[in-house]
Amino acid sequence: MKYWNPYLETLPRETICKMELSHFRNIFSHAKTHSILYQQKLKGIEPNDITTFDDIKKIPLTDKEELRKYQEIDPFPYGGTLGTPIENITTFRQTSGTTGKPVYVPESYESWQWRIEVWCHILYMAGFRPHHRVFLPFGYNVYVAFWEAHYASEKLGCEVIPGGALDTKGRIHKIIEIKANAMMNTPTYGLHIAEEARNMGIDPADFKIDRMLCAGEPMPTATRKRLEELYHCHVFDHIGGTEPCAWAGMCEAKDGMHIIEPFFLVEILDRETLQREVEEGDIGVAVVTPLGRRSFPLIRFNTKDLVVKGKSSCSCGRTSQKIGEVLGRIDDLRKIRGVLFSPKTVEEVVRQQFQEVEEFEIVVERRGLMDVISLRAEVDPQLPLESIGQTKVRLAESLKIATNLSFIVIMEPPGSLPRYTLKAKRFKDLREETK
Ligand SMILES: [Zn+2]
Repeated sequence: MKYWNPYLETLPRETICKMELSHFRNIFSHAKTHSILYQQKLKGIEPNDITTFDDIKKIPLTDKEELRKYQEIDPFPYGGTLGTPIENITTFRQTSGTTGKPVYVPESYESWQWRIEVWCHILYMAGFRPHHRVFLPFGYNVYVAFWEAHYASEKLGCEVIPGGALDTKGRIHKIIEIKANAMMNTPTYGLHIAEEARNMGIDPADFKIDRMLCAGEPMPTATRKRLEELYHCHVFDHIGGTEPCAWAGMCEAKDGMHIIEPFFLVEILDRETLQREVEEGDIGVAVVTPLGRRSFPLIRFNTKDLVVKGKSSCSCGRTSQKIGEVLGRIDDLRKIRGVLFSPKTVEEVVRQQFQEVEEFEIVVERRGLMDVISLRAEVDPQLPLESIGQTKVRLAESLKIATNLSFIVIMEPPGSLPRYTLKAKRFKDLREETK
């Protein structure tokens, strides 16, 4: 079967929109009745006032800071963000806390099952099927995506191997021993496992992995293709977050991602005003309303993810709205010498044109009145000395073309830059620390 839910995934656009409007009214009404945050925030707007998508645009957005603020009141630790009595909560989740105090996410059994169903759509779209033995090379801890992938793989009928409590070498041995044929990991860790395997004299293609789903970081196409070459497998991406859940995933066409409709209403808004929906092909901020999750209702959650608005047709036959490229978090964009800079552009250049670069780091600092940007790069230790010099020159040229900025390129000895398993921190803006 081609689709996880053949009915929902091929509905006419008009029907999807009608369903989303109706689901939105329901979750709005639920949030207003059950959550202190929304009782206060949505005062003066009634569910019956919402009859069109334009009406939705008048409702204020919700951001992470508000969730944190309302979690300071009782009941601990969810406070005014709860959408159900605390007795109904069966699962605690939280954000990773990389951007400040974590947000605690309460899931009732019903809401957790809703998240798992969303994940079944994502995994099925990426070709996960009952014959897959899925290896998850992490201790999941607070990283909700791996818990979701675990339960959803089970629901699809796959066999799941949790790979926590092992180091990378141990995981490689386990993948081989148990003949795992599917994986889910961050792109960074996928590259790291391949590098480590090669150091052990093992070709990662010999794992015979068939499907890989990536999570946790924005993945440039060049990185996805590099993983496909290394593992000789199909690699898919998705986008989401702990608060709203994963809300879009890649299909076999590997051309953008399908929004999981009608589970979510996703608006791609103009990044300056956050009011107007952008046109197809334009960049905007994703604002997401999960439409069926009641224990932690979110109305128009500002994900701060910058994405390109995509098409609403696809060669796979699904009729859901798509998004194109994911450009990263709006918080990661920087002005350097007056030029708007995204660290993702550097990753795209490095992964696409410099197979010999194994790890890199971008550092921005202020020297006197000047912003200086450097790339520290670590290359394959087998590379001859003269080639290292050529790589250095080519890196500086290619980065200048792609970003309009002059980089100082520093070649580092093998193994000197940090390696990451979950959220990679390859971009350091030291100007912020000296402000
Ligand atoms: Zn498709």
